Amino acid sequence: MKNRFPTLWHFAVIFLFYIAFTIPFGLIQLIAPKSLDAWVMLLAYAVPLLLTIWATRRTYDKKGKLNYKPAYFDLIPLVIVVSYAFLIVGESTVFLLPEPTGFWKVIYDELNKSMEKIFSNYIAGFLMVAVAAPILEETLFRGIILRALLKKYKPYKAILWSAIAFGIFHLNPWQFLYATVLGLFLGYMYWKTKSLFYPILIHFMLNSTAFFTAQMMDMKGTEGLTEHLSGDDLQKFIAMIVIAVILIIMAWKYFEKYFARVPREIVVATQNRHKLKEIGNILPENYRLKSLQDIGFKGNLKETGNTLEDNALQKVRQIAIPYDVDAIADDTGLEVEALNGAPGVYSARYAGDNASYEDNVQKLLEEIKDKENRKAQFRTVVAYSKGDKEYTVSGTVKGHITTEPRGAGGFGYDSVFVPEGYTQTFAEMGEEQKNKISHRAVALQKLKEII
Ligand code: IMP
Repeated sequence: MKNRFPTLWHFAVIFLFYIAFTIPFGLIQLIAPKSLDAWVMLLAYAVPLLLTIWATRRTYDKKGKLNYKPAYFDLIPLVIVVSYAFLIVGESTVFLLPEPTGFWKVIYDELNKSMEKIFSNYIAGFLMVAVAAPILEETLFRGIILRALLKKYKPYKAILWSAIAFGIFHLNPWQFLYATVLGLFLGYMYWKTKSLFYPILIHFMLNSTAFFTAQMMDMKGTEGLTEHLSGDDLQKFIAMIVIAVILIIMAWKYFEKYFARVPREIVVATQNRHKLKEIGNILPENYRLKSLQDIGFKGNLKETGNTLEDNALQKVRQIAIPYDVDAIADDTGLEVEALNGAPGVYSARYAGDNASYEDNVQKLLEEIKDKENRKAQFRTVVAYSKGDKEYTVSGTVKGHITTEPRGAGGFGYDSVFVPEGYTQTFAEMGEEQKNKISHRAVALQKLKEII
């Protein structure tokens, strides 16, 4: 697990992708005519980044899904206000750095020169700063990197790492701090909404603000930010930062409350609609269950493990990881004492690969027709995957196997299983009663305590 994408090594590879793709465009910049400077810069920025995203997806994130869907529209006004508070805090970090001298002065001047170039052309400049940067940088740093980090680490640690990676990508100390601070907010919004809509919107707003301010004030790029303030101005500036920080903290509290009320979505990784219904009836109301159909999963879930645990985990991972969702899967087996626990993990295909419920029941009755001991138990293992964590819980219900099927409800082996302390089979007692005592109910009750 620890070696799972992204480790520092993966970051290094992504960085190398980026450098490798940048080199040819750097050369083009050297020979391209001056009049095309801004356009060449746009290309030299966007194409390597696009190729880096493509290469990273192909190498490490083949099955991952990128989600750009807009949602939570009512938060837009507050998000706009908080974005500008972050802008103030972010920009003020520049004052933490000393005035550049020597080598750093050269880099700083170069940075400003290239900013001037890009800001000199209205259209190319806007496309680069306010369109390409938000979409591409958010796709890479939030859509791919943070999404993967969230599966490995606790949310705040994942957000911090993705913000630092985002800062480093800017390749200079002045933007490093700013981008890292801003990356915290971008990451937070991605984590809470699971969509790139807000990160892109925030990034767009802030970059276009920077772009237009630079145009209007003729303040090219980062120039002017490090000039030192004093006296009254300094006091006003500090007051502004304090207000911005207070606002951010208040908004954070509000967001936490807001998102706590949003029903949690859990995908039930099963193709069995009976199970979907049973799980839906048992889980608390603030959970919204989604089926495999709802998330567009087609095909069959693999279950090739040797134990119920293996299968439950195998099923849940096929959904939780690629679709980036919380997911539940269960695997159930009927364990018959006189058959040494068979059909157990092979319950679904007891009478062959495409066996129907009836085929399996008939085979079971046939196998134990001469046995006196008809004791059996259903055992369910439920696996739950939530961000960086996986849980398994199990539930059993003891009982016995009848000599012939009884009842029309339920599914699978329900018609031949009588739970201990009852006379009806699961198929006779009706859903409500079964859901109170079943193996799945016992396991889901345990799961409820965890979540
Ligand atoms: P699965 O692999 O968890 O889907 O379950 C394997 C087989 O066990 C299914 O094909 C059913 O025949 C049987 N089964 C699972 N759950 C139940 C249940 O609640 N009642 C009866 N049979 C079940």
